[in-house]
Amino acid sequence: QALEAESMRRALHNQIQELRGNVRVFCRVRPTENEAAVKCAPDGSSLNLKRVEGKEDAAFEFDRVFDPSAKQEEIFEEVSQLVQSALDGYKVCLFSYGQTGSGKTHTMLGDGNGDMRGIIPRSVAKIVEASQKNAHKGWSYTMHASYVEIYNEQVRDLLKPGSSHSDKHSIVHKNGVTEVSGVQREVIDSVESAAALVRRASAARVVEATNMNAQSSRSHTIFMLYIVGEHASSGSELTGCLNLVDLAGSERVGRSGAEGARLKEACAINKSLSSLGDVFSALAAKQAHVPYRNSKLTYLLQPCLGGDGKTLMFVNINPENTSTEETMCSLKFASQVNAVQLGDGKGAQRRITTKLSSKVEKKGDKEKSKSD
Ligand code: ADP
Ligand code: MG
Repeated sequence: QALEAESMRRALHNQIQELRGNVRVFCRVRPTENEAAVKCAPDGSSLNLKRVEGKEDAAFEFDRVFDPSAKQEEIFEEVSQLVQSALDGYKVCLFSYGQTGSGKTHTMLGDGNGDMRGIIPRSVAKIVEASQKNAHKGWSYTMHASYVEIYNEQVRDLLKPGSSHSDKHSIVHKNGVTEVSGVQREVIDSVESAAALVRRASAARVVEATNMNAQSSRSHTIFMLYIVGEHASSGSELTGCLNLVDLAGSERVGRSGAEGARLKEACAINKSLSSLGDVFSALAAKQAHVPYRNSKLTYLLQPCLGGDGKTLMFVNINPENTSTEETMCSLKFASQVNAVQLGDGKGAQRRITTKLSSKVEKKGDKEKSKSD
């Protein structure tokens, strides 16, 4: 009976997904003890921003708005189905956008092993669990994970001790998913191995943040999970992937007081966030050319952002009235993303191929990448 309820939930999720298109935006407002300029409506999908003197208040609507009382568990409940669709061969991407201190890392990674865990550890555990349940339906899965950071348009491996941004890593599209050359790919075969990997990578990030003067606010971290499923009797194969992205702070250069080398850094980061914006604009306008190649971030996420991918963006908000104008920028960016409808309205296509046709599929991929 539990299984039946689960499959009904999945079907409902897919229907909603198809109706809404494949890019969705959730807003999460973090708690504060100071005076707040943001008011969440009880409908759970809109909010009001009280602006500085002389500027009119602004109202925004998203697929969901989580008020400051929302718990980590509740957030995960809302994304769990989307995350698990990677097991069905979808290319899925979740990212958190917002200024430094708005709760991006809290949402994606969270803290420790308990209730404060964020989306990354919960997703990996859920997927491992679900993949083991799927085994009896004839599907068996192999999973690998990588964890990287993009800083100043350079990729660093968070799973390899002592790696640096000067290591050369290139981004390659292969079998419909993106891989980063030369980075550690670790086998995920149990909830324990998954948790250990997430712990290692977050420890690497913490050490770096203290050594390198909060560089973390200016880099993107990307957790990548690759899933290959094989169906025993039919020989069908599917390739899914899940990218969980904690973006660099969206604050403007002026506010963070960047100068000299720092300014160059801030520009490179702003460049990749604006490249992300450009990709969404091109998708919203259904332009034939989408400029995925303008930044490492967008090139890496191309399979998820493009036609048959699924994307969910969290816009994280610090409601304090000292952040009002930064909040306005984030909400505007998020509204533009919210306007994007991917694909042809029929929903995402999953990629199941038989072994025989996998050659043809690869050739198709090559032709696609030539033309973009
Ligand atoms: P960012 O990654 O956007 O710079 P953080 O996730 O590090 O921001 O959040 C800044 C601080 O606020 C952290 O101490 C974090 O634990 C806390 N915080 C953020 N969001 C929440 C929340 N929803 N509930 C409780 N604490 C939060
Ligand atoms: Mg952070």
